[in-house]
Amino acid sequence: MQTKILSIEDGLDDAVGLIKNGEVVVFPTETVYGLGANALDVSAVRKIFIAKGRPMDNPLIVHVADFDTAESVSAGLGEGARKLMRAFMPGAITVIVEKSDLIPDEVSAGLPTVGIRFPAHEGARKFIKACGVPIAAPSANTSTKISPTSAEHVYEDMQGRVPLILDGGSCQVGIESTIVDMTADVPTVLRPGAITPQMLAEVLGEVKSFAGKIIVARAPGMKYRHYAPSCPMAVADSALSAAEYYAECEKNSLKPVIIAKSGYLSSLESQEKFQRIDLGDSDVEVMKNIYAAMHEAEKYYGVIICEDFGDSGVAASVMNRINKASGGRRV
Ligand code: AMP
Ligand code: MG
Repeated sequence: MQTKILSIEDGLDDAVGLIKNGEVVVFPTETVYGLGANALDVSAVRKIFIAKGRPMDNPLIVHVADFDTAESVSAGLGEGARKLMRAFMPGAITVIVEKSDLIPDEVSAGLPTVGIRFPAHEGARKFIKACGVPIAAPSANTSTKISPTSAEHVYEDMQGRVPLILDGGSCQVGIESTIVDMTADVPTVLRPGAITPQMLAEVLGEVKSFAGKIIVARAPGMKYRHYAPSCPMAVADSALSAAEYYAECEKNSLKPVIIAKSGYLSSLESQEKFQRIDLGDSDVEVMKNIYAAMHEAEKYYGVIICEDFGDSGVAASVMNRINKASGGRRV
């Protein structure tokens, strides 16, 4: 087999054709070069293992170029995984979640889980998008060799074993992605990388590092706050996530408070007791009371968790202020 090296621009059509025909293609990412195939095509995936000389019991990471595909390859991402994705994707992170039936056992090496990665590298995203399928890929080196960070590295190691190498220059990150297992009781780093346990803990509250140490954020989620009340504030995606985040804050002795409409608060109250500020029943009342609530909250509490009032009418104007106050942070 002849191995061609082409730039992303020149090689994109060939690359898409090869992937559609069930062949492998080497492509650049910001971490290291990947050896990709259609993740939904078992015989294509097998070619990865053959080209690498990789044992079949080592799972492959599934690369996507949008969040919908990430959802589709998982059996439900869960709030933690979504938080990580919002914070770090596209980027040098792989998130392990339960897999959906779309993902064959050859990709997951028989595990019930799948590793999902959404690369930041523009060429990688172009390639994956153009293929229109999730791309399973390990690093583009033969088994036990060093991971390649340039098209030349790949060519030296794999010439004659792959039909095409897309050349995207040298990899900016240079080591493999951080892998975080979100199916563990405490999110666990399975492979350390550019995204550190400290960075993960700021988003997740706590993580177990690769060395097995529990890293706790000083105050979870403060990283994305820009300015506003003197304590951190976050908008909850749902009443359920407000309750979950409330419990998480309380566990870390952060004195949370939920500010929301009466109906929202009473729906939560049926489950558990919590500190709250009631903004009233209507959007107009919310508008009237929101600043007073923030003043009160920053005086007496440590973390503000706020209802999402939606985007219609005056609620949209209120959300504009709330999004500034929370720095866009959501839980
Ligand atoms: P490579 O890209 O060559 O470093 O290989 C991918 C690596 O991702 C594998 O060696 C595993 O360590 C890891 N990986 C991929 N999928 C999973 C999974 N479902 N569970 C645990 N680890 C995984
Ligand atoms: Mg590797």
